[in-house]
Amino acid sequence: MKPIRCEASGEAFTIYQSEDGSYCCPVCGALEFSIPPYDSEGRPSFEMCHCGFEFGYDDSPLASKDAVVGIQANWSRWRRGWVERAVVSPEAFATLEGQLKNIRLRLAFDLLVVPEENET
Ligand SMILES: [Zn+2]
Repeated sequence: MKPIRCEASGEAFTIYQSEDGSYCCPVCGALEFSIPPYDSEGRPSFEMCHCGFEFGYDDSPLASKDAVVGIQANWSRWRRGWVERAVVSPEAFATLEGQLKNIRLRLAFDLLVVPEENET
């Protein structure tokens, strides 16, 4: 995965692109977008992932009443619900763990989503 740095109103974040050119959902890690969810200046694509997150809507308190301030804070908010729904089935859980690797995240023992340790 190739990291792409983005910046939106002072908030810096990373989008991941695979070798074949597709982009990962920054919430769930699904590799399913032909255009980046956000461009380098942080402008959202307004596409919706199968996890239900719509870039530019679910991350904007001006658009969604459930959104909080900060793009990444909304990714975390959404991801938490997605993890809670996935733990009910071993298949969904395995898919979730695989997808989170795409965006350099893993599940800790208590199902908190944390960054992967740096591999040296
Ligand atoms: Zn997603």
